[in-house]
Amino acid sequence: MLACSMKHHNVINPFLSRVKVMRYEDQALNVPILCMACDNAPCIKVCPMNARIRQANGTVITDTSVCIGCRACVYICPVGSPSVNPFSGQTMTCDMCMDDAQQPWCVTACQKEGALKMVKGESLTIDRVRERAGRSRAIFPSR
Ligand code: SF4
Ligand code: SF4
Repeated sequence: MLACSMKHHNVINPFLSRVKVMRYEDQALNVPILCMACDNAPCIKVCPMNARIRQANGTVITDTSVCIGCRACVYICPVGSPSVNPFSGQTMTCDMCMDDAQQPWCVTACQKEGALKMVKGESLTIDRVRERAGRSRAIFPSR
């Protein structure tokens, strides 16, 4: 969150981050909430100002030159992704640090722990299947 804020606003302020981290203390889990850049994105359809736009890299962002801060995109989003800039009232979502030649800043910031990484859609699916298989083996060792 701090890296995201630094990248886009040049300040360290978690309220200016496009990624949110949900903490589930009872399960010792930290889950990043990010824009999924949905196909047929409901936020694009619902925005009265046509401010939600898809970029060439597939991400869906808010055009701040027309956003009126009504938050319709926040309410319609199935994952509650859009953050609201506390200073402007306008919404913000992940643009994958599109103008950065390297990789998203959050991924760089998390390099040591490696909890965030860039993966292609197909390998994400394979990783998930492997992870689930590993979990099942732990729960049902005889299978
Ligand atoms: S903001 Fe929400 S609805 Fe819009 S593309 Fe991202 S995940 Fe989908
Ligand atoms: S907050 Fe901005 S981007 Fe979101 S629906 Fe309203 S005008 Fe559109």
